Amino acid sequence: MTEPHPPRPTVVLVYQRTSLPWIFEGAQRAGIDVVLVPRPDESVSPDRLPPAVVELLPLDVEGDPAKALSVLKQRHESAPFDGITTLYDPAVPFVADVAEALGLPGLGRETARAVQDKRIMRRRLAEAGLNVPGFVTVDDPGAWTDATRLTFPVVVKPANGFSSLGVTKADSPEQLAAVVDEVWEVCRNSLTRVAGLVVEEYLDGPEFAVESLAHRGEVQVLSIGYKGEPAGPHFEEGVYRAPAALAPHVQEAVVREVVAAHSALGVSDGPTHTELRLRGGERPYLLELGARIGGSGVSHYIAGHVTGADLAADALRVAAGLGPAPLPGPPAQPARATGAAANYIVPCGGSGRITAIHGLDELAADPRVDHIVQMLHPGDVVRPYPEFTGYPAFVLSHHPSTEDAEAFHRTIEETVRIEYAPVEGAQ
Ligand code: ADP
Repeated sequence: MTEPHPPRPTVVLVYQRTSLPWIFEGAQRAGIDVVLVPRPDESVSPDRLPPAVVELLPLDVEGDPAKALSVLKQRHESAPFDGITTLYDPAVPFVADVAEALGLPGLGRETARAVQDKRIMRRRLAEAGLNVPGFVTVDDPGAWTDATRLTFPVVVKPANGFSSLGVTKADSPEQLAAVVDEVWEVCRNSLTRVAGLVVEEYLDGPEFAVESLAHRGEVQVLSIGYKGEPAGPHFEEGVYRAPAALAPHVQEAVVREVVAAHSALGVSDGPTHTELRLRGGERPYLLELGARIGGSGVSHYIAGHVTGADLAADALRVAAGLGPAPLPGPPAQPARATGAAANYIVPCGGSGRITAIHGLDELAADPRVDHIVQMLHPGDVVRPYPEFTGYPAFVLSHHPSTEDAEAFHRTIEETVRIEYAPVEGAQ
């Protein structure tokens, strides 16, 4: 008789879009089985499951979290799983709750709330003595007057927002009431829960994203990438190119600030995606730290090309309570770059019903392009800002250097274009 194989670790993956393949491929490499909780807006055919997915478990995580928790409890009792994770930011607290309730590895409720609620995050970072812009929290729409004492311009944002939803700049105190009303309205229309707002001073300077992996409190900064310098009033995402060209002392300051933010927020295990701005081009101010792989998996692609790390596989191992595979470089140091990678986020560039998206087919044939992830298609309706419909497409590419990536993005700007027709009945 042959020895039975030890069971493969199983991780429940909440609300992952299957068109973004990296986490599924990472599970396959890590030898981890995935139970997928599909996104409610995506129909996943049981006959064509992504790699490593062994089961579909539909749950209404946002609409009925109590029921979703109880279904997961039953599933765990009848067939235990080793971990639960998500790359979808709004589901981070739910995942932490489930992990805590079932005794699985996780962020813990309190930390999950600190990274999800920008009011708590700002307070925690300030208490830890990190760089934080002047800020005021607004718990109901009438309570904005406190914020007039801030130095303008300011940025108004939902406390529990994501994907830049509703984030709006106000140049003067006179504009503030109207901007607060507008952002509140966006929250009501687009978020399942309106938690409140944060008004904070505008941080002048280029923006960066930092990919890290924490394990037992040790934070490994994998890559620092340039995110452009969006000036508002609304902050549509545009480019991501890594590694960023930064002077060594600035890079060190970024690593220090990011590592310190992990401990201020209590994030000791798992992948993180941190966004920050460099005031005066030198001084890092965190915008936020997400306790998940960024960009629904894009961060895995970027970190992999820059450092050779396997963020998706390691993140799943950590979620299952296993240690990550050894990573290159000493802890808390950016690993040595082995190449450059980039994401070009096709801007909506207008609103209405999409009639055509030009230029993507040509890009798909370019050897530098590894993936085109198209989220909007002809026929879809893009609502005007500040409403957020989603990004039309990501173009992921690799290059010998960040300068080459920049030159490539300049050509995409010229070639990719979306055409719209007016939507009947729209004001
Ligand atoms: P979300 O979680 O919705 O993405 P963020 O706080 O990350 O919200 O803000 C989205 C974008 O808005 C940022 O990437 C940045 O470009 C811009 N932004 C937010 N806060 C500020 C600020 N205080 N100063 C300058 N830009 C900001």
